[in-house]
Order: sequence, then structure tokens, then C-alpha cells
Amino acid sequence: MVVDKEDLIRSEVVQGAKKLYEKGLCDNNEGNISIRNGRKEELFITPTANQYDTLTKDQISHVDFEGSLISKGKLPSSEIKLHIAIYNARPKVRCVVHTHSPFATTLSIARKNIPIIMEEQIVYLGGSIDLAPYAEAHTEDIGLTALKSLGDKNATLLSNHGVLSCGKSVIDAIKFAELVEKLAKMYWGALQIGEPHIFKKENLEKFYDMYNRLFANYPRKKTK
Ligand SMILES: [Zn+2]
Repeated sequence: MVVDKEDLIRSEVVQGAKKLYEKGLCDNNEGNISIRNGRKEELFITPTANQYDTLTKDQISHVDFEGSLISKGKLPSSEIKLHIAIYNARPKVRCVVHTHSPFATTLSIARKNIPIIMEEQIVYLGGSIDLAPYAEAHTEDIGLTALKSLGDKNATLLSNHGVLSCGKSVIDAIKFAELVEKLAKMYWGALQIGEPHIFKKENLEKFYDMYNRLFANYPRKKTK
């Protein structure tokens, strides 16, 4: 039997999307997940007006880096430009996740970063989770501002909007989105009862080394 690789990626997008929905990170009609199509300048992404509970692989949009549909599927998520900006700047990234998860979005509305409050945050995400300045949804700008605040890390907050995470695998990108929400919840909670203790970057080199070895996906060699 010939294995259709693109069909497998469609199934991975569906499984990833349903995971985001089951974990409460995305509701119907919001958030999105995409997977790069190998080395091609193409991706598979959840469709616009996505209904996670009834999503099938035939609904997944197959688009090029211009945002145009290539094969079967519904119209792509209106946040397609955000995903393309990440794939263009981060060749190692295989999966991009965007959510409006409630605690992280709450912090983005209060215009707060999540400082370093746990060691695992460095290992998986690369440190503090910084807030991108406000940019209108569905525009090129939101991709550019997200990339800037992402820096060398794996997740960022989008002002008055939500979360963006990216990883070398689908499992990673989903885990990172989930961790951002968990950290946002804990930071929010700590703010309610006192002054959160924030780690300083010094003396945490061991965790940055682990990040660079295991989960970092930024380009190490700067291209011209
Ligand atoms: Zn959004």
C-alpha cells in the first residue's frame, strides 16, 4: 500500500487540534494549529471557523507560503500569516500552535510578561514569556511583532489576543502552549496572594544548556 505522506500530515493536524480542544486550550471558532510539509514551502493548517469536535482531515487546508490553497480543504485559518512568518524565520520548526487560552490571554490583556517563575520554563520555553506589542489580528504585522518578542524562545504572548508557540514536533508545540497556560495561571495566582518570587537569569545556566540541547528551534547560524 502506498502511504500518502500528505494524508498523514492532515491526520496529525486533526489529532493535534483535537488535543488542544480536549485540553481546554482552544474553543470552536478560535485558535489554530499547523504543520510544515517537509522541506517544501507549504503547510497544513486548521480551517477558518474551525469546529474542533467535528474536524476531519479533508477539512484541513493545504496552503503555500503565499497563503494560497494548493489542494483539497476548506479556506485556511485567518491567522495563516502568523504561521507563515514563523516557518519562514524558523526552518527547524515543524509545528505552530496559536491559542486564546484564558489565563495567558488575561495576562496579555493586562499587558504583562510571564517572568521566570519555574526552572522547567527555561528548559521547554527558553525563559520568560514576553509580550508582543499589539498588532491587528490576521495581518502581516502580528507575525512580525510575534517574531520579535519570540526572540530565541519557543512561545510568546500576543497583546489582547493570546499565545503563540512553536516546536520541532507537534508534541512539543502543544506541550509549550499548555505550559504557557499553566505558568500564566500560577503567575496570576501568585500575584493574588503576594509578591511572586522571580528567578534571576544568573545561576540558571544548567537549564539554558538543556533548552539549547533539547527544545530550542531558533537558527543557530545567522544567515545574511
Ligand atoms: Zn487568534
